[in-house]
Amino acid sequence: MLEIDDLRVQLDADAGLVRAIDGMRLALERGETFALVGESGCGKSMTALALMRLLPENGRVAGGAVRLDGQDLLALPESRMRDVRGGRVSMIFQEPSTSLNPVMRVGDQIVEAIEAHTALRGGAARAKAIDWLARVGIPEPARRIDDYPFRLSGGQKQRVMIAIALAAEPDYLIADEPTTALDVTIQAQILDLIRDLQRERQLGVLLITHDLAVVSGMAHRVALMYAGQIIEVAPAAEFFAAPRHPYARLLLQALPDAARRGEPLAAIAGTVPPLWQDFTGCRFAPRCDRAMIHCAGTPPALTEEGPQHQVRCLLYSQPGEALPREVAAAKVLPPVPAGEGAPLLDVRDLRVRFLLKAPLLFHRGPRHFDAVDGVSYQLHAGRTLALVGESGCGKTTSGKAIVQLLRRQARISGQALFDGRDLFQLQGSALVKARRSIQIIFQDPFASLNPRMRVADVLEEGVIALRPELDAAARRDRLHRLVDQVGLRRDALQRWPHEFSGGQRQRIAIARALAVEPRLIVCDEPTSALDVSVQAQILNLLRELQREQGLAYLFITHNIGVVEYIADEIAVMRRGCIVEQGACADVLGRPRQAYTQGLLAAVPRLGVSDS
Ligand code: SF4
Repeated sequence: MLEIDDLRVQLDADAGLVRAIDGMRLALERGETFALVGESGCGKSMTALALMRLLPENGRVAGGAVRLDGQDLLALPESRMRDVRGGRVSMIFQEPSTSLNPVMRVGDQIVEAIEAHTALRGGAARAKAIDWLARVGIPEPARRIDDYPFRLSGGQKQRVMIAIALAAEPDYLIADEPTTALDVTIQAQILDLIRDLQRERQLGVLLITHDLAVVSGMAHRVALMYAGQIIEVAPAAEFFAAPRHPYARLLLQALPDAARRGEPLAAIAGTVPPLWQDFTGCRFAPRCDRAMIHCAGTPPALTEEGPQHQVRCLLYSQPGEALPREVAAAKVLPPVPAGEGAPLLDVRDLRVRFLLKAPLLFHRGPRHFDAVDGVSYQLHAGRTLALVGESGCGKTTSGKAIVQLLRRQARISGQALFDGRDLFQLQGSALVKARRSIQIIFQDPFASLNPRMRVADVLEEGVIALRPELDAAARRDRLHRLVDQVGLRRDALQRWPHEFSGGQRQRIAIARALAVEPRLIVCDEPTSALDVSVQAQILNLLRELQREQGLAYLFITHNIGVVEYIADEIAVMRRGCIVEQGACADVLGRPRQAYTQGLLAAVPRLGVSDS
C-alpha cells in the first residue's frame, strides 16, 4: 500500500510562506485507481511531487509521512529513493515537451528505463521498447524508436512518456493529467492500456486530473482537493451520484452538456484563495452557496459520512443558521432563432495548402501539404457552428484562414463570402474593415496578450482603430463598457496581464475581440486551458454576448460536452475534409459516419445525477 499520512508541504514565495498541502491523508492500494481532482492551484500536482521527493527548490515537507508497504519514503537516502522512483513508483508528467531528453533518441530513453528496472538487456530491451511504443499507439514503432523527440507531435511525446513510465513495470503509477494533451481517440487507447495493466499487474494508479469525465470512467475512489486540503473522499460512483460537499455539487453542475442547453451553467464565483494566508474558518466559505454564519470562524474537519465517504463541511458536523445572501434571479436566455435568410459566412470549397521546405534532392513525394482540402459550410448571425475533430484535422487552420491569418504562409483557394463579399478577394480598406468584423479568441490566454501592455492599452488599440474620431473621454467610456460587459472590475484597466488568473485573461481576450464590434468570432479552444468553474463563466459570457449582440461563433473544440451545450450546428472534420455536418442534436444523437461514431464513442462520459 502507498500511504500518505498527515502530509504538509510548504513553499517559500515572494508573498510569504505558502502551505501548499495542509494535512493530507490517503491510501492507494495495488489494483486500484484513486483520482485526485480539483481546480488549478489546489495542491494536486504538489502532492505527486512530494510523494516522489521531487519538490521544487523552494519547497519542503514540513511534516507527515509517505509510506510504501510500511517504509517511510521521506526518510530513505536518495540512492535508495532512486530505485523506488521509476522502479516501484513511476510518474507520468503533464508536460511531455520538457520531460523527455531532447538530445537522446526516444528508444534509448525507454531502453534506459527497462535496463534500470528489469532483467532485460541489449537487443531484448530494445525489442521490449518497440513493443511498448506499439502498445501506447505509436505507428511504425520499429522505425520511430530511433527518432529524436523533436520529430514527434505533442501527443506522440506524451505517449513515449507513458511508455517510459510503464516500461519499468512499476507497482504504482502516478499519472498527472496523463491524457490532457491527447485527442479523445488516443486518450481512450491510453486509458484502456492503463486499465489492462492494472488487471494484469495489479498496478495501483494515482490519477491527477481536472477532467471529471475521465475520472468517472477510470477511478474506483475520488478525493476532491480545495486550497491544499482534501474536502471529500468517496467511492467514485457515490461521488458522482450524490456528492456531499457544496463545492463538489457546484463543480458537477458547472459541466456543460446537452441537458443544460439554454440555461446558464452554475459558475462558481471567485477563485481559490492564496495559500499564504491564515485561515480561521472554512476555506471555501467566500464562494459557498450554502455557507452558514459560523463557517467563517470554524475550520471544518474531515468527518465520516458513510462507508469510505468523508466530507470536510460543517453542514454535516455542525449544522446551523444559513448566511443571508442575495439570490440572483436566474437569467433566462431566449432561444436562438434558426438560421434564416442569407448566411453571414458562406465558405465554399476552402483549401489551404502549405508548401514544404524540404531540400528537393532528398525529398520524395509531394512538396506540399493540404491542411484543409475542400471544406464548405454556412454560418448565420446569432448562431454557433462547432468544428470538431482530432488534432491535425484542419479545424484550426480553416478558422485561421477565415480570420486572414494565413495569407503569407499558405496558398488559400475557394471562397469565404462574408455578407456576400469574398474575404479572399478583398484588398485595402475593404480588407481592413472585414478583418475588424471577424475576430479570434485563442486557446491560451497567457500567450495571446502582450505582457508589456496594460489592459487599457490592449483594449484601446482596437477602439482607436475602429473609431478614430472618438476623443479621450469617449474612448475611456467605451473601455469601461467593455470591461463591464465581460464582468471585470474597472480597475482592471490599469493592471498588467500577469496580474490576472487564466479565466480573467480569457475575459480580457474576449473584451479585446469585442472592442472592434465584430459580427463573427472564431473561438479556437477558448476554454480548454481553463478549470471547469472558469469554463462555465466563459461559456455563460459567450452565450449572453451572442444573445445581446447577435454574434456568430465558429467554435473550434474537441470537447463534445461544450459542443452539446453551445453549438447549433456541427461539422466533423477529418484529414482536412468535413465528413459529417448538420444540426448539433442530430449529428451527436444519430451520427451516420463511422468516423463520427468512433469519435463520439471515445469521448468519456459522466454519469451525473444532481441530488
Ligand atoms: Fe460551505 Fe460552511 Fe460547508 Fe464550508 S463549512 S463548505 S462554507 S457550508
